[in-house]
Amino acid sequence: AKALGKARYHVFNPEMHHEATQLLELENDLRRAVERQEFIVYYQPIISLVTGKISGLEALVRWQHPNHGLISPTEFIPVAEETGLIHAINIWVLRSACEQLTIWQNHNSTLKSLTISVNLSVRLFSHPKLLAQIDQIIQETKINPACLEIEITESVIMENSQALKKILEQLRERKIKLVMDDFGTGYSSLSYLYSFPFNVLKIDQSFVKRMHENEESMGLVPAVLGIAKSMGMSAIAEGVETTFQLAQLKNLNCNFAQGYLFSRPLQPELVLDFITNSPQW
Ligand code: C2E
Ligand code: CA
Ligand code: CA
Ligand code: CA
Repeated sequence: AKALGKARYHVFNPEMHHEATQLLELENDLRRAVERQEFIVYYQPIISLVTGKISGLEALVRWQHPNHGLISPTEFIPVAEETGLIHAINIWVLRSACEQLTIWQNHNSTLKSLTISVNLSVRLFSHPKLLAQIDQIIQETKINPACLEIEITESVIMENSQALKKILEQLRERKIKLVMDDFGTGYSSLSYLYSFPFNVLKIDQSFVKRMHENEESMGLVPAVLGIAKSMGMSAIAEGVETTFQLAQLKNLNCNFAQGYLFSRPLQPELVLDFITNSPQW
């Protein structure tokens, strides 16, 4: 599957052995999907470990393929990045998420500080119109920029670092929060990361998985939380699936947590219900 890179288009006909053909079909499909807006955003709750209540939601895109059903972003985002289609898709996700947050906040006045987190591919940051597009979305959706969080994966931050740093600073001037995603999976040096204006560090789920139930070991999570603290950043643990992990993260004073223990990513119609009925964790 070398020609396909990271994206394996599993849902396609397995008899279609010719990978180049398959990739071309995926590209064509994706292009059409952008035109027809075949995407849907799911929302996964993020829980404050101080209040035990929801503090925000992460927007996670899916592709509603007319023949193949719901397709995971891990299958089409890499191809979207290679073909440049990622820009249109990601701006659409950002707009949808901001519109949706405004709808929820207008519906319920106690949700004024609810945040929305959107993953932006680092490729978007080399587009000269990105800031103007973000400004336009903020204006049109009337979202409070302080409620918007942008997640960028650590492993790709090294690319084009000076230009990226400048845009990140401009986002910070707008009070948008910056989340370093998948922390610990990349190779950036700590002193280098320190020079970027991130507010939040998201601990990759592989570290959370290694907090084993019957072993003493907390693995690297305490060390990563120490790094966040020393950098003046708050921390989110992702991939939390067990009450054991939750208890340990609370003990370690981790600020936020996210994972199947609390909720899977939800269709937008289910979010207000979750907010009303979820327990205090
Ligand atoms: P990510 O940003 O690291 O998102 C976390 C992924 O872990 C999500 O997968 C989420 O559904 C999954 N997850 C959450 N809690 C748990 C848990 O407790 N256990 C396990 N095993 N998994 C959990 P998803 O939705 O398939 O997204 C995969 C990746 O696709 C994301 O990883 C992100 O890098 C990318 N992605 C998703 N939406 C967008 C988007 O709008 N734009 C861009 N550029 N990338 C996106
Ligand atoms: Ca993320
Ligand atoms: Ca992540
Ligand atoms: Ca990830």
